[in-house]
This record gives sequence, C-alpha cells and structure tokens, in this order.
Amino acid sequence: MNGLPARKMSEDAQNANPSIGIERKKHYNVRENNGSWNGGKTHDNRGRSLTLNKNHPRATHEGYVFDHILICEKVLGRFLKKETPIHHVDCNPSNNQNTNLVLCDSHSYHGLLHRRLRALIACGHKDWEKCRECKKYDAPENLSRFDKKSFIHKNCNNIRMTKWREKHPEYWKKFYRKEGD
Ligand SMILES: [Zn+2]
Ligand SMILES: [Zn+2]
Repeated sequence: MNGLPARKMSEDAQNANPSIGIERKKHYNVRENNGSWNGGKTHDNRGRSLTLNKNHPRATHEGYVFDHILICEKVLGRFLKKETPIHHVDCNPSNNQNTNLVLCDSHSYHGLLHRRLRALIACGHKDWEKCRECKKYDAPENLSRFDKKSFIHKNCNNIRMTKWREKHPEYWKKFYRKEGD
C-alpha cells in the first residue's frame, strides 16, 4: 500500500514522548529567533568572547556572560564579585587561557597594572610616570604629583603656569594687585 510508510511515521510521532517534542520545538524556536545562532557563543567589539548563560548574575541583557569570568569562576568554584576585575596578561582580551588571566583586588589595582604596562612598553621602566604636560616618561623623583591621576615636571609646571597667566591676565591681576604695575 502506498499510504503505509506515512501512516507508520504518524504512529511513531503519536507514541513519542510529548515532552521531548515540546523541548525540541522550544530549542528550534530559539534558533529560529536568533539569526546568527552559533551554539550560544558571541563576541563583543573588543574581541572578548561570551557564552549564553541567562541565569548567571552577571549576564548581559541578551543573557551572555564573558568567558573570562566563567573560566575564573570555574577555577574558584564560586561567582566573582563585580569589584574583582580580570586582567589579561598579554592584553589580548580574546586569549582566555588560564595562565593569561589575573584576578585583581580592585579596579584601581587593575588600572595600576595597565599604567605600568604602558610605561614598560613606552620607555622600558614600569615604575616611571608620564608628565601630563610634555607627555614624556620620567623617573618618579623627577616628577611632582599634579592630581590623583597625573604627574608633572617642575619645569613643565612653570611653563604651564606662565601660559595660563598669559591666557587669563585679568584673573591674575586681581590676585596680585598689590604687587602689580
Ligand atoms: Zn587588564
Ligand atoms: Zn614634562
């Protein structure tokens, strides 16, 4: 009979576990809705890879979590706090090998690591700081702290002040009226 194979298939479908059918359908819909379905993996514009993990406390709006976070958490056996940044030793954010990941105590420590790395690359001395005025690196003893984040040469600061005085003559006169003229 011509109709036999078709009937057999429909019988199989009827006998199948209905819950499996639902699961399959759900999964299929997720794929359908996601035009670039690639097994729950994606990248951000900095080349950092993410994995779909909607129940993770640090999942993005789309339900993805950075792989470097997942890898560190797997090693630690617990969730990481937001205040625990992860540094990529070679500064390649797509290299998530265990040996390339360093857990930092704070964002300021992470910032320090990057500052030292920039100094090392720029001048060969990780302890040197950059003068905010002439943009040259120098040993800390040759620089003064300008503000919380930056340093300046004494001489560069004098030049900066002279420039500033020329730019704001009125303001300057007001403060030094007694000595003026
Ligand atoms: Zn870093
Ligand atoms: Zn300078």
